[in-house]
Amino acid sequence: LKPARFSYHTPRAAEEVDDLLHELGSDAKVLAGGQSLVPILNMRLASPSHLVDINRLENAAHEPASDGDDLVFGPLVRQAVAEGSKTVAATLPVLRATLRFVAHPAIRSRGTVAGSIAHADPAAELPSLLVALEGSAVARGRRGRRTIPAEQLFRGPFEPSLEPGEWLEAVRFPRRPGAGFAVDEVARRHGDYALCGVIAVAGHEADGSLRVGLTYFGVGEAPVRVFLSAVDPDRPDELAGAVNDAVAAALDPQDDLHAGRELRLRLAERLGIRAARRAAVAAVTG
Ligand SMILES: Cc1cc2nc3c(=O)[nH]c(=O)nc-3n(C[C@H](O)[C@H](O)[C@H](O)COP(=O)(O)OP(=O)(O)OC[C@H]3O[C@@H](n4cnc5c(N)ncnc54)[C@H](O)[C@@H]3O)c2cc1C
Repeated sequence: LKPARFSYHTPRAAEEVDDLLHELGSDAKVLAGGQSLVPILNMRLASPSHLVDINRLENAAHEPASDGDDLVFGPLVRQAVAEGSKTVAATLPVLRATLRFVAHPAIRSRGTVAGSIAHADPAAELPSLLVALEGSAVARGRRGRRTIPAEQLFRGPFEPSLEPGEWLEAVRFPRRPGAGFAVDEVARRHGDYALCGVIAVAGHEADGSLRVGLTYFGVGEAPVRVFLSAVDPDRPDELAGAVNDAVAAALDPQDDLHAGRELRLRLAERLGIRAARRAAVAAVTG
């Protein structure tokens, strides 16, 4: 399969990207790692007239950078680089654990962290991690920059809340020291998109009790987050009941070619119970 004809642009500076996206309007698409966009073009699910390839930006970082409490990923940080980064391993190990579920090593060697966020696939792992950690994205365009909190970033399937002419300059993942994490998913084959997956983040409240956030992917139109309060990992029946109640209240997955609604709900319960417990234990034991 071959894509429809398009004009190809190779800006060297971020300001050039701003100008191109402003001038070309909705007929232009940013090309980062191409691991989602190129198959989409080849299958002619989209036929933009212009591709703005950001891979030749001269001042874009290729490694994650620390900034205060956040790890910051510029638009050209590949998923494989993030996975192999010593800074990520030491300060944001949940990102490394999550990336292991994203596609295959060959795809991660080109795919970017920011590209996965911009793509906003509801079955993808990284958008849910950004929501789970309460991270943010930095959008820019001719009108300037703005920070979009993760919970406002995913409007719907493949629909990031970017305005016309905006693109992602960076995504910011808070490190959340002292919190416990767990990530888990079920896919038909390793590297496939998940039928259902979850990221659990457990943190201590001011009164010392544990609060666990569960952020699900593959079960809705965008990441779905629920909270469990006063979690005690030594009371498994209570924990299971709380997860099951939260799943019943918040998740409304649909049948599709890959799995039915009931299967996804049962997976959400089982994965949620396991991940909540693992994260809570990690928060308690440090
Ligand atoms: C076989 C296969 C299996 C896969 N399995 C998984 C999986 O299990 N989990 C998963 O999460 N992903 C999976 N992927 C997708 C992969 O992780 C992609 O790399 C990722 O989704 C997009 O990153 P990219 O850099 O390749 O973006 P591209 O493909 O270049 O772009 C994707 C979209 O994001 C936009 N975009 C990219 N960067 C920016 C930016 N900086 N600002 C604004 N818009 C931008 C593009 O315009 C496009 O619309 C799979 C891909 C393949 C081919």
